[in-house]
Amino acid sequence: MTGFFATPIEFLKGVGPAKSALLNKELHIFTYADLIQHYPFRYEDRTKFYKLSELKDGMPFVQVKGFLTFLETAGYGRKKRLIARIKDDTGELELVWFKGLQWVQKKLHPGVEYVVFGKPVAYRGSKLNMAHPELDIVAPQHDTSGCLQPVYSSTEKLKSKFLDSRAIMKLQTVLLEKAVNHIHETLPDTLMQSFKLMPKKEAMIRIHFPDNHQMLQKAQFRLKFEELFYIQLKLLQMKISRIEKYKGMVFSKTNLITEFYNKHMPFELTGAQKKVIREIYRDMRSGKQMNRLLQGDVGSGKTIVAFLCMLLAINGDAQAVMMAPTEILAIQHYNGLKPLALKMGLQMALLTGSTKTSERKVIHKMLLDGDLHILTGTHALLEDVVQFKNLGLAVIDEQHRFGVAQRSKLWQKNSNYFPHMLVMTATPIPRTLAMTLYGDLDVSVIDEMPAGRKPVKTLHRYDSARLKVFGFMKEEIRKGSQIYVVYPLIEESEKSDLKDLMDGYESICRAFPQIPVSIVHGKMKPDAKDYEMQRFVKGETKIMVATTVIEVGVDVSNATVMVIENAERFGLAQLHQLRGRVGRGADQSWCILMTDYKLSKDARIRIETMIRTTNGFDIADVDLKLRGPGDLMGTQQSGVLDLLLADLGKDAVILQTARDAAIRLLDKDPQLISSENVPIRTHIDSLKKTAVNWSRIS
Ligand code: ADP
Ligand code: MG
Repeated sequence: MTGFFATPIEFLKGVGPAKSALLNKELHIFTYADLIQHYPFRYEDRTKFYKLSELKDGMPFVQVKGFLTFLETAGYGRKKRLIARIKDDTGELELVWFKGLQWVQKKLHPGVEYVVFGKPVAYRGSKLNMAHPELDIVAPQHDTSGCLQPVYSSTEKLKSKFLDSRAIMKLQTVLLEKAVNHIHETLPDTLMQSFKLMPKKEAMIRIHFPDNHQMLQKAQFRLKFEELFYIQLKLLQMKISRIEKYKGMVFSKTNLITEFYNKHMPFELTGAQKKVIREIYRDMRSGKQMNRLLQGDVGSGKTIVAFLCMLLAINGDAQAVMMAPTEILAIQHYNGLKPLALKMGLQMALLTGSTKTSERKVIHKMLLDGDLHILTGTHALLEDVVQFKNLGLAVIDEQHRFGVAQRSKLWQKNSNYFPHMLVMTATPIPRTLAMTLYGDLDVSVIDEMPAGRKPVKTLHRYDSARLKVFGFMKEEIRKGSQIYVVYPLIEESEKSDLKDLMDGYESICRAFPQIPVSIVHGKMKPDAKDYEMQRFVKGETKIMVATTVIEVGVDVSNATVMVIENAERFGLAQLHQLRGRVGRGADQSWCILMTDYKLSKDARIRIETMIRTTNGFDIADVDLKLRGPGDLMGTQQSGVLDLLLADLGKDAVILQTARDAAIRLLDKDPQLISSENVPIRTHIDSLKKTAVNWSRIS
């Protein structure tokens, strides 16, 4: 979309400077392109007239026809309302208005037949009525004009200036009429035919004004396909060009790995771990730069995989880093890797925001001299002063928090070669999101848990059953187990959360008088926190009362019960992550979700999902459906996920289809030079110019 579509919206007939300013401000509509892509968010079904006797409570917006039989104002003051009744040959319906009574009343005339459009509701079990319906006098053309009427999002401000959905619809009509000759096909014939796609021009018209549901569905499919196809094409092109452009260091020596296997391997690797290590090894000795995503559920054993890959790099006289999004996670990695590194006589350090300047200096020097083999840390290690002698492998534990920009910063840390990159996600992410956020990476999945782990049993208990839960906890402690009790802590309401936590701690101390209890929360000093954690890790305390700081903080295989208080306030990913803290030993573990009786619908779904499955990918899928991609991934990465039409929660099939199509197309024509792909090249150029969608991912 160029030229014509870059025209400022001000120049559209019926807009002008004042309305244009409002559209800019309220809906970010600046150009013709913006307006035409302000797609309806729903459609009103005007294809059918319902009989009055067919109406039921809870139906969506429907259209009926009837003669006005009754008109009256009732009530006084703020309760004043206008009541009307219409009648057809099957029954009656009450219509009611609470606002603008005089204006409506003027339009209504008993005995006249009206087309009425609204939502039938039975208020508190009373008779059906429609509040504030739309009304038109039945005109002869009405019987033929049945269609799906678009509904556009608008704002209160716009509505007060008469730019409501109907007005936007009129603007779309004006614009589409002018625009048809400027809409060019953006997909090649081959794709159009193999997926029976609606032509672009028709789709742009029909997404606004479909005659029926089938037509709408075809228009939506076409436009969603296009949207997802171009994102995938871009990601895959990035991947191809990187493979071609950037040589990777060749790491083929394996004696360090062999030594580790033979002398120090603490357990047998699972089949899945072996499989992903093979995939990574193949990349690292291929001579191409590796860019791989490693997915695996909590507790699936990603750390050891990362360590073995580091050995490959170190074996080739290079260094390795592991970056985590938070200090706690970085410390956890450090603590997890340190014993392994020590066994192999390797030097390792931790670098975070709170590392002292004097220590930093030592680290910087050792890195440059090549004396430090492994560095773990937070984004502090992205700073320019952190320079390596020869960085060979960067492992990023993303936990959804780093973006492409940070990834590329790590690439720059070696001036001869880009280091190999291994991106790990701490919690599984749904396939559709992985394909979009990490569509330029190869993917490895650890889909198997270490042997001997029993799946955690999950229960839901209401607060009223607390005494029973305490009884269960006592029994488990008597059998030798340790227990976590977790409270939510959400920053804005920190004070009351802290009070909940302290109250809970006191009531547990009272209920378990003989049993030593630890407490850990974010407001404590780091060394006090550490001291309490250590007491629990050593088994000196049996119960750990904590906020979510333990989500990623500790690894105690003797802990078999996780009690989560106010479980309704946690997101699914968090609940799953917390549950992953237990079930690390061979004993049966339990996760008990405590809630009040009152639960929102979403909270109920979250809790039912936790009870139904322990599979992180399953859980991530539900989470995506409940929250939508933007929320799920945090704001940093929502850019790529800001799709105009497609919905990653619902359009998984279209996404897969579009990605496959893009892969096949690039296989045949990697440079997009064939004549049949001209529409693609032209479209990419225009996307670059108008920066729609495109800039978000580059
Ligand atoms: P995550 O994938 O969540 O990072 P970790 O790497 O922390 O998981 O591993 C979880 C626990 O499982 C650690 O205590 C680790 O030592 C152990 N572990 C990893 N792989 C295996 C295995 N193949 N057999 C037994 N235990 C394993
Ligand atoms: Mg981990």
